[in-house]
Amino acid sequence: MGSDLIHDQELWFTDGSIVLLAEKTLFRVYAGILSRASPIFRDMFAIGQVHNAEETYEGCPLVVMAGDNANDMRAFLEALHDPRSFQMNSPKPTDIPHIVSVLRVSTKYDAIHLRRRAIEALQTWYGDSLSAYQQGLEVLRSWSNTSPPVPSPIISRKDFFYNILVANVAIEASATVPLPAALLLCCVSAQDFRVPYDGVTNSDGILYELVPEAKRSIFIGRPVLENIALVRKSIRNFKSTQDCKSPGICGDFCRMVASKHETRGSLFLDPFFPFFRLNRKVISGQSCEACRSGWEASNKRETEILWRDLPLIFDLPPWDVLQSASNEDCHEVPTAGLPVPATAVLDLVM
Ligand SMILES: [Zn+2]
Repeated sequence: MGSDLIHDQELWFTDGSIVLLAEKTLFRVYAGILSRASPIFRDMFAIGQVHNAEETYEGCPLVVMAGDNANDMRAFLEALHDPRSFQMNSPKPTDIPHIVSVLRVSTKYDAIHLRRRAIEALQTWYGDSLSAYQQGLEVLRSWSNTSPPVPSPIISRKDFFYNILVANVAIEASATVPLPAALLLCCVSAQDFRVPYDGVTNSDGILYELVPEAKRSIFIGRPVLENIALVRKSIRNFKSTQDCKSPGICGDFCRMVASKHETRGSLFLDPFFPFFRLNRKVISGQSCEACRSGWEASNKRETEILWRDLPLIFDLPPWDVLQSASNEDCHEVPTAGLPVPATAVLDLVM
């Protein structure tokens, strides 16, 4: 073996029964634990090819893990050999790269329990319900470096690579449930369109780029979302209600809102932006109660419809198809990007 190989510091059990080599890192672990978690490892060890293998390392059978990244493999093996390393009851955003690594390898080797837990952990921030998405967004924002907090759900550029990691693994590992929220956050948290297109270079010097399928979804979905946001906030939709007590004042306020949103330039206009909640104070002083509650109710209704149609906007299958694809334990589920006509979107735009 080459002399530039290194033992992993943690995952090197002196009584381990198998040595795995990923890139330049050697892991000495237990074949029994791997067999129990993964039918692919079980078959690999059962047919005896490993124990008859010519290659050994310090007396242990050696398996070269072709195509596996050492960091991903470490996260996967650690989760199997030390369950404390993957207790994802209340994960932090900084755990996202670790979870993505576990998801990638557990999918490849069909370790279904670990795969399920990784998908569930990602749903902390990239959920399939509107309320989960909004809660996750709050958490991501509170972790971002934006100081003072800006009055829009923009996540700092530093943390943008989380969205890229999750969108990519959702496609590559057919873990499709977190995909729409990850794509949406790629639109929402990027100051301009170049970021999801070019990717970001993180503080570790690595360039994180979206896979082509994710870029395609954003290319299709981003302008639709912006158009919906513009229409919803424009004077055409945002007008005083039938029960209005002060048409003059409320009318002025609607015109002010419309003009404000039309001058936002190239920033992404987010149709999920909690406009009414954040501007309640402003609204209170400049409109009547009937209009306020009418606007809030219609905003809530429209936001729910928009969430229902979000996968279609990104040219993905609807939520129920994404959910069943994620729940499939086979790792050969068709990936996202299945062509489904986004007809429901027209109802929102028109
Ligand atoms: Zn009014």
